[in-house]
Amino acid sequence: MKDYLAKALVYSGYIRAYAVNATATIAEAQKRHDTWHSSSAALGRAMIGTMLLSNSGLKGEDERLTVKIQGDGLGGAIIIDGDAKGNVKGYIQNSHVSIPLNGDGKIDVRGVVGTNGVLTVIKDLGLKEPFSGQVPLVSGELGDDFTYYLASSEQIPSAVGLSVLVDKDETIKAAGGFMIQVMPGADEEVISDLETRLANLPRVSDLIDAGKTPEELLEIIFEGQPIMFLEEVPVQFKCDCSKEKFSQALITLGSHELQLMIEEDHGAETVCSFCNNKYYFDEEDLRALQQEIVGGQA
Ligand SMILES: [Zn+2]
Repeated sequence: MKDYLAKALVYSGYIRAYAVNATATIAEAQKRHDTWHSSSAALGRAMIGTMLLSNSGLKGEDERLTVKIQGDGLGGAIIIDGDAKGNVKGYIQNSHVSIPLNGDGKIDVRGVVGTNGVLTVIKDLGLKEPFSGQVPLVSGELGDDFTYYLASSEQIPSAVGLSVLVDKDETIKAAGGFMIQVMPGADEEVISDLETRLANLPRVSDLIDAGKTPEELLEIIFEGQPIMFLEEVPVQFKCDCSKEKFSQALITLGSHELQLMIEEDHGAETVCSFCNNKYYFDEEDLRALQQEIVGGQA
């Protein structure tokens, strides 16, 4: 089954609903960063939350957003980048966190993320200044933290569910989530009905593991209610790094730094933190970059 995100309207449009199957996307992140299960669940949930946020909140083709989660947990910082076309990339500072399950028998994401810290969302909408919103971490489990961000920073009452199921061999068995947003003017009855439904919802990753599609997830949540499905957006792990981008980064170090790399290391290896791709620059490459610096100054 391919990863995609489904968008829908419920309760005459007073509720906007999004659901995503992100199993292959999170599996790709797990492989690229060689994350262990606790890190995988935290990174995966952060990526799913970012996908839901970017595909519900961004409009333009060139708009993108970055979510930074900086807590006092064992995983360190988590940085995710997403756009409105379903692309997402990200990493966790400590990819090898493996701690015991929590009291509910689930992966202890709170232990990886921490409870003291901040969640920051930076939206690049193609304007001069990016929009930026920051909230304190309220849970560390991430679903509630995204919910709190939406309510507090964007004034959108919402519910966010994020779920990652890791197999015994550390591979990703299922991953996905949902985001439900309450529009202004919605009845109290609608909201309390929604709360009851969500309180009784099985774990999303179990539903995905059982083969449910994003549309079926929404049908389970809103059973008995007419749902107007809007569109499907394919989602995938995608990084836009290139050797050219790293060339520019090396050039900013200056000719003297590059000379040291040539003389001492006979080359340079750069690694993209988002996707772990490596780019190697041999002595000849580095000399060419020095030439560009000289050319640029002339
Ligand atoms: Zn990359």
